[in-house]
Amino acid sequence: MTQDKEDDYSPIHLNAYMITRTHIYVKCPYCYTRYNKDGKPSKSSKNYFHIHGSGGDLSNRIETRGHDGSNEFYKQYNIRGEFYIHITDDTPRTNMNLTEYAKFIKSGKN
Ligand SMILES: [Zn+2]
Repeated sequence: MTQDKEDDYSPIHLNAYMITRTHIYVKCPYCYTRYNKDGKPSKSSKNYFHIHGSGGDLSNRIETRGHDGSNEFYKQYNIRGEFYIHITDDTPRTNMNLTEYAKFIKSGKN
């Protein structure tokens, strides 16, 4: 598999999906919601959201986080770099949780 690949320490830049008074939601391009027995993401799976604390700060900034290395699928990428989470003018500020926000987007009221 990927064991022969060198570790990659390049920084990973991601835009925050949304931010609340308590949490920052980040859609991870490397993690999925469901996996098959062979370890690959199942067809019906979606990209997984990682949730970090926002510390009540809704301002634009870049938050640096490491990725949880225990995810078996993520390990296949040999990514060792820090994740830079960008909170910009385009990042939705909301009081909703992820499920509520998904419903809101679907409703087209935004
Ligand atoms: Zn991830």
